[in-house]
Amino acid sequence: MASGLLFFPTQQVRILFCVLRASIQVKFHPHKHMAKYKLEYIWLDGYTPVANLRSKTLIKEYDHFPKLEELPNWGFDGSSTRQAEGHNSDCVLKPVAVFPDSTRKNGVLVMSEVYLADGTPHSTNARATILDDPDTWFGFEQEYFLYQDGRPLGFPESGYPAPQGPYYTGVGYSNVGSIAREIVEEHLDICHDAGINHEGINAEVAKGQWEFQIFGKGSKRAADEMWVARYILVRLCEKYEVDVNFHCKPILGDWNGSGMHSNFSTKYMREVGGKEYFEALMAAFAKHHNEHIAVYGPDNHLRLTGLHETQSIDKFNYGVANRGASIRVPNSFPKNAYRGYLEDRRPNSSGDPYKIASRILQTISTVPTP
Ligand code: ADP
Ligand code: MN
Ligand code: MN
Ligand code: MN
Repeated sequence: MASGLLFFPTQQVRILFCVLRASIQVKFHPHKHMAKYKLEYIWLDGYTPVANLRSKTLIKEYDHFPKLEELPNWGFDGSSTRQAEGHNSDCVLKPVAVFPDSTRKNGVLVMSEVYLADGTPHSTNARATILDDPDTWFGFEQEYFLYQDGRPLGFPESGYPAPQGPYYTGVGYSNVGSIAREIVEEHLDICHDAGINHEGINAEVAKGQWEFQIFGKGSKRAADEMWVARYILVRLCEKYEVDVNFHCKPILGDWNGSGMHSNFSTKYMREVGGKEYFEALMAAFAKHHNEHIAVYGPDNHLRLTGLHETQSIDKFNYGVANRGASIRVPNSFPKNAYRGYLEDRRPNSSGDPYKIASRILQTISTVPTP
């Protein structure tokens, strides 16, 4: 061998050159920077009445930030999430939305739907029931409590803090404490880094209660972003030893509950609208009131009492600028010839935005458009 190489020096040089060129290409070619990405697959489990967020990490090499269609389906043990029996436990995770995760090196958040092995959507997969419509827009206002040691952040060990009043949009240590603002600001930044359309923050009426809003165009987009924003918030709070309490009425008595007002508009509502269509729409919402309440989050009777800016759970009404109505019609709506968006105030803070969006679109679809 050695003597062979000696006899063919030009061949040897050629091979050396080839090896060198290949290594230079790997090193300097812009499309060959492979990196190990951390794909965090996120899904909703089978717990009732409120699903939990679950997630696990898959490491995969890409030479660029992966696109949705480049993410593989994955699987998990459904018998540990109340989504399967032990003897046939494999469930499929199908990526449906992808976001950069600025909290991790090469981090990727992968929102996923759950499927059965035969390719049909799992019964817990409410996203699969949403009518596809790129021209439907949703805006969700997520209220929640930050909790520590089993009580809202800022509540004394026993008893209550000063009655609500100064907390809503409040400022100052005695109103908002010292960690809450750090959490909500960090949450906002991580959401924006992810490309989530987080639209705003406010301290809420009860002590320890906060709100953020997500708006999205496309019938599934805002709901996807809301679930990922919830995931980011819950995970962020781990290091503060704080939990997020999404229950709609964690503190009974004269303390506001938490809602998730759901603002919605279709292209027809925005561009054509009209009083007649609006009244037909509201008649359909009245008719399906119970089906809406059924997917608007558990324990809503504790929150929808007719007090604290709510309508009672067994009544449906609507009203211009009326925060005590089931559906609030923004002032701008009648002014703009009954065009624009409407605010369904019934959904609560632990409601599933997939189920809410699905139900709203189902009811809208029963109303004929001329
Ligand atoms: P309020 O607290 O007064 O109800 P917010 O500002 O908290 O109001 O929430 C209003 C929500 O309505 C926002 O999430 C916003 O994105 C959403 N929204 C605005 N215009 C539309 C629209 N045309 N279709 C759907 N949602 C909309
Ligand atoms: Mn709001
Ligand atoms: Mn609010
Ligand atoms: Mn609102």
